[in-house]
Amino acid sequence: MKILVATGNRHKFQEITHILPHQTKKGENIDYVSLQDIGGLRLPPENGVTLQENAEIKAIFAAKESGLWAISDDTGLEVEFLNGRPGVHTARYAGETADTQANNRKLLNELEGLFLGKRAARFRTVACLASPQGQVFNFEGILNGFIGFDYHGENGFGYDPLFIVEGSARTLAQLSEQEKNKISHRAKAFEKLAAHLDLL
Ligand code: IMP
Repeated sequence: MKILVATGNRHKFQEITHILPHQTKKGENIDYVSLQDIGGLRLPPENGVTLQENAEIKAIFAAKESGLWAISDDTGLEVEFLNGRPGVHTARYAGETADTQANNRKLLNELEGLFLGKRAARFRTVACLASPQGQVFNFEGILNGFIGFDYHGENGFGYDPLFIVEGSARTLAQLSEQEKNKISHRAKAFEKLAAHLDLL
């Protein structure tokens, strides 16, 4: 069984393929292939207005083009004080060509002067599963936490060094990949997807 992981982000590819099972209940192997593995398929622009729309754009396109079942994820950081921003604009928070450092710096600037109780935030992932025939299923995962005052930890990617997990004193970047994959927004969404495929 082959499943195409429709992401150009190598961190996401790694997390998703470590979260999902590699065998069906019957013992059949599941092969997760990347966009590179199928010849470097380029995904269309993510111009949806919700995470679900963006996740669907990627998975539906990838399934149609490849003839394989495809999965994708779109993730947003929703900060309470910012009324849910950056949300669907999380990747481009500091501008169209912004990198992770610029995005993180902007976030710290926007929350400057606020105490921890005012810095509540959540990561929300929508995972999408699409078939070449046009079936589409979506699954959501949420992780609550707070935006810290400074960067802590070396692991993970994106906003992980700023995101303090609720009920813990650590940021996502201070967790090992295995620890993150037990609790993360992405893990929750893809565990639901795996259950839907009857893989768990
Ligand atoms: P997208 O889902 O690829 O559009 O990612 C949106 C933005 O959120 C990008 O800037 C990512 O770096 C960031 N992001 C996505 N998932 C995570 C995560 O698990 N931890 C931290 N940042 C993330």
